[in-house]
Amino acid sequence: MLLSHLETLNILSTPVWVVSVHNQQIIFANTAARKLAGNSLLGPLRNGQFSVQSLQSLESYLPHLQKGDQVIEIWTIHKEGRAFPLSCRLSLAQFGLQEPVIVFEGTHTSAANVPAPGSFLSEARPYRRDQSGFYERFFQTNTAPMLLIDPANNGQIVDANLAATRFYGYTRDEMCMRHTWEINAMGQDVLPVMHEIARLPGGHKPLTFVHKLADGNLRHVQTYAGPVDVDGVRLMLCIIHDITEQKRLEQELEHAALRDPLTGLGNRRQFMQLVENARTQNPQRTHNFSLMLVDADHFKAINDQHGHNKGDDALVMLARTLETGIRESDTVFRWGGEEFLILLPLTGLEGALHVAETLRTAVERFARPDLPSVTVSVGVVQYETGEDFTSLFKRVDDALYRAKTSGRNQVQMG
Ligand code: GH3
Ligand code: MG
Ligand code: MG
Repeated sequence: MLLSHLETLNILSTPVWVVSVHNQQIIFANTAARKLAGNSLLGPLRNGQFSVQSLQSLESYLPHLQKGDQVIEIWTIHKEGRAFPLSCRLSLAQFGLQEPVIVFEGTHTSAANVPAPGSFLSEARPYRRDQSGFYERFFQTNTAPMLLIDPANNGQIVDANLAATRFYGYTRDEMCMRHTWEINAMGQDVLPVMHEIARLPGGHKPLTFVHKLADGNLRHVQTYAGPVDVDGVRLMLCIIHDITEQKRLEQELEHAALRDPLTGLGNRRQFMQLVENARTQNPQRTHNFSLMLVDADHFKAINDQHGHNKGDDALVMLARTLETGIRESDTVFRWGGEEFLILLPLTGLEGALHVAETLRTAVERFARPDLPSVTVSVGVVQYETGEDFTSLFKRVDDALYRAKTSGRNQVQMG
């Protein structure tokens, strides 16, 4: 049985979290993990002030983990009013489940061991920056931006290669007057994270940060940081890879995948993602919202009579009419074909019925000589606390069905 498999993880002294890739939730946290972070949800752990990842979506880790790549993340742990970073090693497991799960194993750390920023100044002799030695042998000729950082000295940048000075827009001297936290959008919060990274063995997948350039521009970067020994001084070598363009393309693709190309409205997938995010981020909160399902009447006949292209134009106009008729906090989604779903946050049944009636009349009155006229039937429901989505959607579907069977061009509540 799954639970008994997982409970064997309680004998480990390192904290372990087992996370479902599918719904991005912690399925199991062993005793050490609960002792460290209580019953914290995944969201705050992965997205807290010290949290750094290699990839944002758990799903995109799968091919890397299957290949056996070493993947780490840094999480933010809140304990006794303090926050501190914890690095976790990721691995894939099955535990007799259908779907694979990701196991996050924290490197054993105690909050008490995490030094406060600035408190780990070393006695070591400082790195000597000159034109020979490390700089010339390795640094200067490399086309990837590279920084040498002294973690023992508050993340002071002690050297930068030519590619780095070009990338950041500072001279080598200016670069070396700065600290890592001055070029990292995390600010001073990056210091404990850097300390955590400095303790990790090398060879893991690079972590993603946002860096600030001299001209104020922000760039998404993947940085590989590993310990190096330069003439007896222990430093961190940071290799920077600019992924801003890649991020932009990813965001564009994601945006496109969540939009309906005809009307430009969010699609069913976007609605589901919104609901899922609300659920994982704040499952305890009771949500007060209403839903409206709007379906164009006899649309098949409209297509038959005016042609599919005119039908398309009518659907776009219908989308615009619905969008215009709702408040700023409400959202229209194209649910499918000639069906639209409207989400009305913080709205009770009475308010939603009023909006529905206004929309129905607006659609009925809308007239343009070049477009077929359209009417809509609407089902309206208010979410009941604790209700699951299957039952909520059945109610709104039933209400719409009643609006259809009672003669169309009308509003029914469920
Ligand atoms: P009812 O009043 O019962 O909803 O009748 P209906 O004809 O609207 O319902 P039905 O589900 O039988 O047909 C839906 C029609 O909507 C058929 C389909 O061709 C049309 N439709 C769905 N998506 C599009 C689209 O993107 N463009 C156009 N032009 N028509 C579409
Ligand atoms: Mg219809
Ligand atoms: Mg329909």
